[in-house]
Amino acid sequence: MSVGINEKILVAGAGGFIGGALVALLRKQGFRDLRAVDVKPLDEWYQRFEDVENLSLDMNLKENCETAAEGAVEIYNLAANMGGMGFIESNKALCMLSVLINTHMLQAALKHGTAKRFFYASSACVYNGDKQKTFEAPSLKEADAYPALAEDGYGWEKLFSERMCRHFMEDFGLATRVARFHNVYGPWGTWFGGREKAPAAICRKVIEAKVSGKHEIEIWGSGVQTRSFMFIDDCTDGIQRIMKSEILEPINLGSSEAVTINQLVDIAEDVAGIKIKRKYDLSAPKGVNGRNSDNTLIQKHLHWEPSTPLRAGLEKTYRWIYDQYMARERGEASVVRESGIVR
Ligand code: NAD
Repeated sequence: MSVGINEKILVAGAGGFIGGALVALLRKQGFRDLRAVDVKPLDEWYQRFEDVENLSLDMNLKENCETAAEGAVEIYNLAANMGGMGFIESNKALCMLSVLINTHMLQAALKHGTAKRFFYASSACVYNGDKQKTFEAPSLKEADAYPALAEDGYGWEKLFSERMCRHFMEDFGLATRVARFHNVYGPWGTWFGGREKAPAAICRKVIEAKVSGKHEIEIWGSGVQTRSFMFIDDCTDGIQRIMKSEILEPINLGSSEAVTINQLVDIAEDVAGIKIKRKYDLSAPKGVNGRNSDNTLIQKHLHWEPSTPLRAGLEKTYRWIYDQYMARERGEASVVRESGIVR
C-alpha cells in the first residue's frame, strides 16, 4: 500500500521524540499534506516545521481526535503519556489513561472512513515479566506477551490497546498495524526532567561529570540489567516498513544488540573520553532484569531489522545532548524543554 505525496497523513504525538522524527522523515520524503498533533503547546515540541499543519490538541478527548483524523489517509498514533522507568513506575494511572487517546483515535479513524492504515506504537513493556527475570538478556518473541503479565500500568495499557487495534481490524475492517518498540534513543528526545530513558540519562550524567570535573555518576540498579537500544532512524524506518506491510499481528521493532547498563556507561565514557566512578542506587526504579528483541519474525516478513550499532547511535545522541546541555549552561533558550512531569 502506498500513499500519494499529496494525501493527508496524521502523526499524533508529533511534539514528542518519535512523532517529531517521523514528521521530519515524511517531510524529507516529500509528503506535502502532513498534520502534526500533540497536547503540548507548539513552542515545546522537540521538532516543528512551519510547512506542516501543527495542532495543539488534547487527544484524550474524542472530538479532538475527530478534528485530527479528518481527511487523513494514514494515521500514526505515537501519542502517549510516557517516560523512563522513573516515570512509569510512579504514574501508573496516568499511563493507563493513554487508553483514551488510542480508543478515540480508532473511533475517529472509523468515523471519517478515509484512513487506509492506522499505526499504533506499542512497547516491549507488554511482555510477561516472568520471562524477564534473568540478567542473560532473554530474547522475547512476539508470543511471549501471553499469558499476560505486562509491566504494571503502562504495559497493560499497551497490551489492551494492541487488542483494541486487532478487534477494530477484525470487526470493523480498519487496517491496523502494531509495533512493539524496544527502548528507542537518539537526538531530539527527552534528556532531562524525569521522563528521559537510560541512554539519554546516562549521556547527560556523563556530560555533567565531564563538564563539572566531578568524575562520579549514579546508576539506577546494579548495572547488570540487560536491554537493547534502537536508534531513532531505525525506528522511523521500521515504522514505515511495518505500516506498508501485511503484518497483521503486533511485531517487535527493536535492536537485537543487547548490552548491560554498565556496558552502556562504558560506551558513553568512551565517547566522552573520560573514566567515571560509578555509584549504584539499588533502590531506584530499574525495571525488569533482562530483555532483548527477538527479530526472527521481522526478518522473516521484511528481510530487515534495526542495525545501527549502539556505539554509532550513542555517539550522535551524546553530541546532541552535549550541545543542548552547553546551550542551557550558557542560559540560551534550548529547543528541548522539560516535559510537564506529574509527581
Ligand atoms: P514522547 O513522550 O517523546 O512523545 C509522546 C508525545 O505524546 C508527547 O509529546 C506528549 O505530549 C504526547 N501526548 C501525551 N498525551 C497526549 C494527549 N492527551 N494528546 C496529544 N498528545 C499527547 O515519547 P516517544 O518516545 O516519542 O514515544 C512515542 C510512542 O512510542 C509512545 O506511544 C510510547 O509509549 C511508545 N514507545 C516509546 C519507546 C521509547 O523508547 N521511546 C519505547 C516503547 C514504546
